[in-house]
Amino acid sequence: MVIKDKSFEVFINEKQINSRVKEIAQQISAEYKGKDPLIIPILNGAFLFAADLIKELTIPCQVSFVKVSSYAGMESTGVVTKLFGLETDLKSRHVIILDDIIDTGLTMYSILQQVKVFKPESIEMASFLLKPEALQKELEVKYVGFTIPNDFVVGYGLDYEGYGRNMKDIYKLKG
Ligand code: 5GP
Ligand code: MG
Repeated sequence: MVIKDKSFEVFINEKQINSRVKEIAQQISAEYKGKDPLIIPILNGAFLFAADLIKELTIPCQVSFVKVSSYAGMESTGVVTKLFGLETDLKSRHVIILDDIIDTGLTMYSILQQVKVFKPESIEMASFLLKPEALQKELEVKYVGFTIPNDFVVGYGLDYEGYGRNMKDIYKLKG
């Protein structure tokens, strides 16, 4: 499969994705029984994971998508993000932040700090993919679909230069 100038090969197929999403949904449904969580997916990447996961939840929940704009900070370690669209009334809510992939973790870390300001009752993180070798922040990500090596991946919400988000499988760079 080719996107622009790059070749990709299937890495995690649709069937594996779907069954893992169902498992995570079952786990969340069990662990949040009676808690009415607020799911906060990060656009754009998490849109398919969020949609699939939410359909499989068997508990009442609310969903509020947010968008981040990230730009390199002045310090070498800094990814600075600004969060858009966050519902500010998070008090007494059980929040689950949802993303497609955690690479260095800088984006999720920054989002976490901004959500914490609103003092929700609890906060957990969920990411469909996690690259442990790339992680630069100590993040306790409670729900992880797959841990993967440091390969560049596309599909199932993830893009290469804006393309590939619609693909049902997850691909990695061929090489
Ligand atoms: P971070 O390094 O802050 O954890 O990840 C920042 C963002 O980089 C992710 O939300 C995602 O949009 C993008 N990213 C990281 N690794 C990959 C990857 O392998 N493929 C794609 N398509 N995006 C990635
Ligand atoms: Mg993302």
